[in-house]
Amino acid sequence: MNQNNCFYCIKDERLSNLMIPVCTFSTSTLYLFKDQRYPGRCVLACDKHYNEIFELSYKERETMMQDLSKVSKALKLLFHADKINLAVYEDLVSHFHVHIVPKTRDGFEWGKPFSDEKEKHFLEDAEYQDRINKIKMALQDIDI
Ligand SMILES: [Zn+2]
Repeated sequence: MNQNNCFYCIKDERLSNLMIPVCTFSTSTLYLFKDQRYPGRCVLACDKHYNEIFELSYKERETMMQDLSKVSKALKLLFHADKINLAVYEDLVSHFHVHIVPKTRDGFEWGKPFSDEKEKHFLEDAEYQDRINKIKMALQDIDI
């Protein structure tokens, strides 16, 4: 996949079917994943199309990792997660992005990699908006 057919670059329905924009940072955009089986699951996607983490400039990588840290802390506090799982796969969608998955000891797949193969949990539009507003509010209070 290159940037001409990449849904993170084109931002077409392939993207909007999977996630909803939450906010933008200087080098990345935060999305709420529509499958909320893990409450608070998000994706942080680099704004430019890079296939690999080492293709980002030092400054872009540093900035994105700071934003990733800030989002991880906000989601951990907001969703009372015992652990934030971070995942970068990108075999099929190579645009650099990180899955941010709050997990709890008594929740799904504790101690295992999270899976997209299980039954999905979708919310009503108002519930997505409420969750997005809470994430935005939580991000305002995060200092790392
Ligand atoms: Zn892309």
